[in-house]
Amino acid sequence: MDYDVIVIGAGSAALTAAIAARNEGASVVVLEKSPRESRGGNCPFAGGGYRFWHGGLKDVLEIVTDLSEEEARCISIPAYSADVFYNKVLQITEQRADPKLAEVLVTESTPTVKWLKAQGLSFELATRHAIRDGDRLKWKAASTAIRVKGGGEGFRTVLFEIVERKGIEAQYQTRAVKLLSGPRGNVCGVTVLGPEGFRDVTSKAVVLACGGFESSPEWRARYLGVGWDLARPRGTKYNTGDGIKMALDVGARPAGHWSGCHAASIDYSLSRVPEGEDLPHDLPRNECTVGILVNADGLRFFDEGEDFKAYLYARVGRQILQQPQTAAWQIFDSKVTGRLDPDYSSGSWITANTIEELAEKLGLPALTRTITEFNQAVREDVPLNYDILDGRSTAGITPRKSNWARKIDRPPFVAYPVGCGVTFTFGGLKINTRAQVMDTSGEPIRGLYAAGELVGGIWYKAYIGASGIAGGTVFGKIAGANAAGE
Ligand SMILES: Cc1cc2nc3c(=O)[nH]c(=O)nc-3n(C[C@H](O)[C@H](O)[C@H](O)COP(=O)(O)OP(=O)(O)OC[C@H]3O[C@@H](n4cnc5c(N)ncnc54)[C@H](O)[C@@H]3O)c2cc1C
Repeated sequence: MDYDVIVIGAGSAALTAAIAARNEGASVVVLEKSPRESRGGNCPFAGGGYRFWHGGLKDVLEIVTDLSEEEARCISIPAYSADVFYNKVLQITEQRADPKLAEVLVTESTPTVKWLKAQGLSFELATRHAIRDGDRLKWKAASTAIRVKGGGEGFRTVLFEIVERKGIEAQYQTRAVKLLSGPRGNVCGVTVLGPEGFRDVTSKAVVLACGGFESSPEWRARYLGVGWDLARPRGTKYNTGDGIKMALDVGARPAGHWSGCHAASIDYSLSRVPEGEDLPHDLPRNECTVGILVNADGLRFFDEGEDFKAYLYARVGRQILQQPQTAAWQIFDSKVTGRLDPDYSSGSWITANTIEELAEKLGLPALTRTITEFNQAVREDVPLNYDILDGRSTAGITPRKSNWARKIDRPPFVAYPVGCGVTFTFGGLKINTRAQVMDTSGEPIRGLYAAGELVGGIWYKAYIGASGIAGGTVFGKIAGANAAGE
């Protein structure tokens, strides 16, 4: 055997698996398709938010340890229990999420963030999710409390430092193309295409952590459906479903919502950057809950207040993709612009002092009527409260806005053009709670493990913000440790 454990991919799930396997004393190699300068998968594109269960500020300060007492006194972070986390996974996936995998994701999220910290990672408060309330910094409901220090870029940097410090070898421009099977159907290595051509690399176990298929317009159109080839991937251009195909070729069981994905609302101009070119940066537009969304006909098309941002934003991209010109506008007035996250201070937007002026500037004659009808429909008899699903809805218009409906009547008014950004795909491989890949007869494939975005069976139709990195590292750690023990 060339190595004890081969890890395919070099995103956060893969590197976590490599570190966990190395900690068990295994010899490990990481095989990455991208060149070294683009290494890290979706990690460098990520905001770095990490969702875990906790009892509030006291628990958070065990992870974020560089705050002074004085700073901590001005922070309000509501508790986010494992029960709330778990029940929400089941609720927003319409009870389809694999309960065993969901339970592992949730219960292991906190031990894993502590383990990552013990490996050398640092975390900071995710202040982008907080709002100033007098002299206090108050976290928005359901938002994540922390992020990896320095965001996704910081995460990538430190993960590779740990990998290098532990003497884990990484090979770049090395694309895995086929899994090698042993006499008992076990997986015992992989064939790669590297700078020197094809070669076989052998091992006791292989961890597949090479992402989903969001970067392949062909797979997107085939599985997500007509029109998804027009969506713009937000992250790495290398996730084209290779790992999923290799595993299916050795009898793995497909699982999860193959026609589903995480698709957010992003700055319009980014959504038009030709696919295959690296995006200059990510620019999500996730605050539709405090405003309204209108399409190119000047009409609303979505319940912007259906749920808290963290539970809703990953569904908005799909709605925008179905609109004329696969585009839309987010519209806010000055009552709410203070609640917009920092991303809204970059990119492009249009302001106006009257709705009529805004309608003209956007070229949307129907907008005035849309906003007039919306304002007349707002139920002002219900108190506004952003910390709960306040039921302050609209009445008598379709689509309804279920919560936090406010008249759009205080200038200046601002409109942000948005498009659809696909983040990652939900469909993938069936695994058990040991992160072993299962075959089509329901048995584990010996020697084959999986973690991260190519795992199917947790997210269906919806996703909870900042659970991608948590999920990748939770199952990455399990996969690495078990692969080392193979
Ligand atoms: C813009 C953006 C923002 C995000 N923000 C957050 C956030 O704030 N919080 C959060 O929790 N999640 C976030 N996510 C999601 C998060 O990044 C991922 O869920 C997480 O990084 C797990 O990814 P992964 O390790 O499974 O896959 P990836 O990070 O995509 O890594 C897969 C790797 O496999 C490599 N690869 C592919 N095919 C092959 C092959 N054949 N051979 C060898 N290597 C191969 C790829 O090049 C890539 O490096 C964000 C994602 C994006 C795109």
